[in-house]
Amino acid sequence: MGLQEDNRHLEDADRKYIWHPFTQMREWEEATPVIITEGRGSFVKDSCGRWYLDGVSSLWVNIFGHRKKEIDDAIKAQVDRISHSTLLGLSNEPAIRLAEKLVTLMNVSFGQAEGPPPAKVFYSDNGSTAVEVALKMAFQYWQHRGETQKRSFLSLNNAYHGDTLGAVSVGGVAIFHEAFGPLLFQTYKAPSPYCYRCELGREYPACNLACADALEEIMKNHHQEIAGLIIEPLVQAAGGMIVSPTGYLRRVHELCSTYDLLLIADEVATGFGRTGRMFASEHENVVPDIICLSKGITGGYMPLAATVATEEIYRAFLGEFKDLKTFFHGHSYTGNPLACAAAVACLDIFAKEDTLREMKPKIELLDDWLRQMQAVPHVGNVRSRGLMAGLELVLDEKTKEPYDWQEKIGWKVAHHALDNGVFIRPLGNVIVVMPPLNISIENLGRLLTVLRDAVISATA
Ligand code: PMP
Repeated sequence: MGLQEDNRHLEDADRKYIWHPFTQMREWEEATPVIITEGRGSFVKDSCGRWYLDGVSSLWVNIFGHRKKEIDDAIKAQVDRISHSTLLGLSNEPAIRLAEKLVTLMNVSFGQAEGPPPAKVFYSDNGSTAVEVALKMAFQYWQHRGETQKRSFLSLNNAYHGDTLGAVSVGGVAIFHEAFGPLLFQTYKAPSPYCYRCELGREYPACNLACADALEEIMKNHHQEIAGLIIEPLVQAAGGMIVSPTGYLRRVHELCSTYDLLLIADEVATGFGRTGRMFASEHENVVPDIICLSKGITGGYMPLAATVATEEIYRAFLGEFKDLKTFFHGHSYTGNPLACAAAVACLDIFAKEDTLREMKPKIELLDDWLRQMQAVPHVGNVRSRGLMAGLELVLDEKTKEPYDWQEKIGWKVAHHALDNGVFIRPLGNVIVVMPPLNISIENLGRLLTVLRDAVISATA
């Protein structure tokens, strides 16, 4: 089969056999799919031989890009030993080494703040399951402590914690979540800290964090029924890269302490350097009771997640076998050795390459670019933390009138960018920039130039 013929076969077979996630398949069937065959550094190559700069680290996961030697080598070495063995009734070396590393990281990141850092690692294999585990753990923690009324959760509008039903129950993005309403458990919902479109009609900083006051009101009235609050620290990512105002997370943490709610930090998107610190919670000196980690943990190589809980939570589950305090949860691929070996290698790179420090000039470049983009017509709001940015496009900057979602302005920008060698994936009207943390400054510059042109062309 010739190259062209083989390519046509792949395109047809894709349309025939794959049901793509978050995709209207009728549109997909009518389009020509971009089929990725190779990756190197911050670039991916398609089956026609075209290279693209990956502006969103695949789905925010490839923090060190592709073909990263250390991770490649770690996986190859692990394949030569063993690829899978269960954590139910057995343990394995990479899972142990990774847990040790994660807890050490927790101590480094949170050791100086008040409160003991998370210290026990529970593995699963994606961000949604990390959240499911956290919710079940938090619920059962209170049950074991005899506080049986504490069985609801508090979460935020515009929150996104994954696609499984528990995660959707604590989610708050109408377009993704509303359809499943009848299947979900009830939770308390507080306003999103979304200053550009404040639900309370207030202005920061004069508002004095009125959205946190609204959250407190819920806690004051219902804390006896609420097991925990789940939050994406600093950035509500899939909800539209909504960056919370300074002091908000800190305040939320204080309220959780006052009203005795567990604080569950969903750092699936913000964790592992993305915001310029190892974990976003660090920026406001907040120590979560439970932290959910995934995405960047293996550098995008293998599906893996960790839910890390404090010793106190863990201890509530200890007892005699007959007490049935065991945490009855676990997946087939929990603690998969290949994934854990990839994660150990990935996390070692942070120290070896001084990633967080190396990110600084790139964060500055991105921030400068965002400031300049603010002056571009139809850019309503720009927001970022670290190498995690969103540009909200609007029909009218003065009135903030949004583009009709059916106009798919974000996708128009993405298509322009793709034609010019850059891959991004928008969130509705929000253009997302989340390149690999180790992207070179030259490639970041190139990415931003293409994106600027794409925004101008698509909104003209
Ligand atoms: N939590 C957050 C904050 C996320 O951004 C995501 C994924 N975008 C998830 C959870 C779910 O992760 P996964 O897609 O791996 O299930």
